Parts: sequence; structure tokens; C-alpha cells
Amino acid sequence: MHATDALREADRLMTVCNSCRYCEGLCAVFPAMEMRRTFASGDLNYLANLCHNCSACYYDCQFSPPHEFDVNVPRTLAQVRADSYKAYAWPPALAGAFDRNALTISVVTALCVALFILGFVAFQDPAVVFGTHTGPGAFYRLMPHNTMALLFGAAFLYAIVALGMGLRRFWRDIGEPVDTLREPQSLWQAMKDAGRLRYLDGGGVGCMNEDERPTDTRKLYHHLTFYGFLLCFAATSIATFYHYLVGREAPYAWYDVPVVLGVLGGLGLLIGPVGLLIAKRRRDRVVQDEVRFGMDVAFIAMLFLTSLTGLLLLVFRATPAMGVLLAVHLGVVFSLFITMPYSKFVHGLYRFAALVRYARERRMIAASD
Ligand code: SF4
Ligand code: SF4
Repeated sequence: MHATDALREADRLMTVCNSCRYCEGLCAVFPAMEMRRTFASGDLNYLANLCHNCSACYYDCQFSPPHEFDVNVPRTLAQVRADSYKAYAWPPALAGAFDRNALTISVVTALCVALFILGFVAFQDPAVVFGTHTGPGAFYRLMPHNTMALLFGAAFLYAIVALGMGLRRFWRDIGEPVDTLREPQSLWQAMKDAGRLRYLDGGGVGCMNEDERPTDTRKLYHHLTFYGFLLCFAATSIATFYHYLVGREAPYAWYDVPVVLGVLGGLGLLIGPVGLLIAKRRRDRVVQDEVRFGMDVAFIAMLFLTSLTGLLLLVFRATPAMGVLLAVHLGVVFSLFITMPYSKFVHGLYRFAALVRYARERRMIAASD
């Protein structure tokens, strides 16, 4: 019935949990599970992407190891979740990027950085690459704005299409009609739940660590990372608006809106990923999908590098180091864009979609009561 061992194990565990139901107050997974009697692969992928891996249900469970039932919901759902990223990847020919994800992302990033540095050296006079450039348009003396916009526009468009196709495959597999994604109430509820990380709290006490003391640090660092990313995206969008509609070219002054937003977002993207990495190391390995540890670390490292290279460029933009720093930053950002559909980034999309479906199911049950 199921294609993988992880799905078969998830089916067994959900059947046990559906008889027990002790954990129904901990998160969205157990109430969603209770709406079903049997579990198709799409249902299990939905439940796995609804799980935030807080691990409370492992420590609360009377059937977890060494009990013979061997119930370990967080680890099994983490395995199913990671398999689902590969199963829904688009185009399917690139799904293998999820197998040795850390290696793939490292190689792509190193290549992109090397190509940008080589490109700068090949197409520019060394005096320009290693010279000092200030004032509006300084960056574009190293790379014409139109070339930059074309390259990054194409990479971003590709990422959006590939992510959209992946989301479409997920949505079809879990059996949801397209109309659900247009329901304002379900969307709004999912946005609130995702924005607050409502289900990353172990039922209210926080995430469990190796010492079995729950804390909220994972949630805090995730917030810093997520909102840091949004602020950086807002900074780039406003800079694009400045360039095309107001006719103002980068780099901008320290106090200008894109720089202020970029610095705040950049700090979030420095502190958040480091905190997430530390929190990850403090977690009990028994509840984690250790095989996919590299995928998590690679994505965290990419966000950290994007921010670090961006902030270094900001600090040293009026020095001869600007050319090399710009090439490195552009290489990292380009790599982040093209690897997004084949990295842990996809967890945000599938989890949000799962939350939309959950919000809809809850509303339908409330309406039928
Ligand atoms: S995880 Fe354990 S305690 Fe919780 S519902 Fe499942 S079987 Fe019951
Ligand atoms: S790990 Fe946390 S979010 Fe996942 S099923 Fe268990 S209690 Fe729910």
C-alpha cells in the first residue's frame, strides 16, 4: 500500500495513536489524525508536514521505547516529511538533489561564487574590480544593472515555478481541491498559526531538549530567521521600487529604508540560524531524522552566509574590497535562489499548505456540530 518503510511505519503509529489519543491536545497532528480511520500515503504526508517536530509526544508517550510498541512519532514523521520533499520535487529529474543535499548545495554554492568572481575578473579591468567605487550606481560599475536584473530575475522566476509545481503536487497528493487555497478564513487562520509557530510549543511548555527540559528557544530562533528573511526580501523589493520607479540607484545611505530593513533582517538571519543550529545540537537525537541532518544544516548555513556576505558588503562597500565582496554575495544569493526548490526551504511551503488544510477541516467539523 505504501511505497516506503517510513510511510508504513507512520501508518502503524497513527493507527496506534488513533486508539490511544492521549496526545490530542499537544498540536494539530493528533486532531487531524482523529478525523481519519485509515491513512493513505497522501494523508500521512499531510500529517507529517503538519508536525513541527516539537517532540512532546515522544516524551509524553507511554508506548515509546523501550516499550514493545516502539512509538516514536516525531522521528517517523520527520522521515516521512523529508521523503515528501523529494517525492514532490519539480522537475522530478532533480529530486536526487535531496539525497546528498548538503554536498549538492555546497558544490552549487562554491561554483556560483567562483563563476561570479571569474566573471568579474574576465569582463572587467582589474583596476575596476579592485578599485574603490562610491555613490549611486557604484555596484553597477562592476556588473551592469540590466545583466544583474536578468540573471537574478531568471533564477528567482525558476525558483517560483519549481516551488509552485512542487506545491501543486503536494496539494494533489493530499487530495485537496484548489478552491481551499482561495478560502480567506482558512488562509488567514493558517497565516496566524504559521506566523506564531503555534504548534512548535509542545502543547504549551516548549520544545523538548536532550535534558528533557522544554524551552522556547527554537521558536525564538525560528522567528528571528523567518522574519529576518522577510525583512531582507522587503529591503530588496523597496530597492527595486527605488531603481525602476523613483530612479534612485544603489548603494543607498545607512539611514535609507532598504538599508535599515536589510540590516535588521540581516541581523535576524545571523542570530536565528546560529541559534537554530545550537538548539538542534541540544536536541535528543532519538527524535530526529539523523540521515537528513545535512539538509537542515545546509539550509541554515545558506541563510547565514547570505546575511554575512550582505552585511560585509555593506560595511566595506566604500573600500577596494567591494568588488570581491559583491561577487561573493551575488554568488551566494544566486545559489540560494536556484537551490531553494531542492532545499529545506520547501518545508515552509508544505507546512503552510498543511495548516490551510487543517484550518479548513476544523471549520467543517465546527460547522457540522
Ligand atoms: S504518541 Fe503515544 S501517548 Fe501519544 S497518542 Fe500516540 S500512542 Fe498515545
Ligand atoms: S512532535 Fe510535536 S508537533 Fe509533531 S506530532 Fe508530536 S507533538 Fe505534534
